Amino acid sequence: MKSTGIVRKVDELGRIVLPIELRRTLDIEEKDSLEIYVDGSSIVLRKYQPACVFCDDASDVINYKGKTICRNCLRELGAL
Ligand SMILES: [Zn+2]
Repeated sequence: MKSTGIVRKVDELGRIVLPIELRRTLDIEEKDSLEIYVDGSSIVLRKYQPACVFCDDASDVINYKGKTICRNCLRELGAL
């Protein structure tokens, strides 16, 4: 894991601000969702990408009635 050299304080509600340079670099915009992982004593934040409910692929997905489905599975279902 690479250190950014950035130190941020946690506020009274447990929040931290992600530096704008990091958000730009990692293409994280306002209202984007981040998934929180734990690795030993480390907390890892990753941009949340919902995966297909059928095959777990996270690329080229659409949302249909609250479920995430990829184009390949849509095609197999005959929906495309
Ligand atoms: Zn799929």
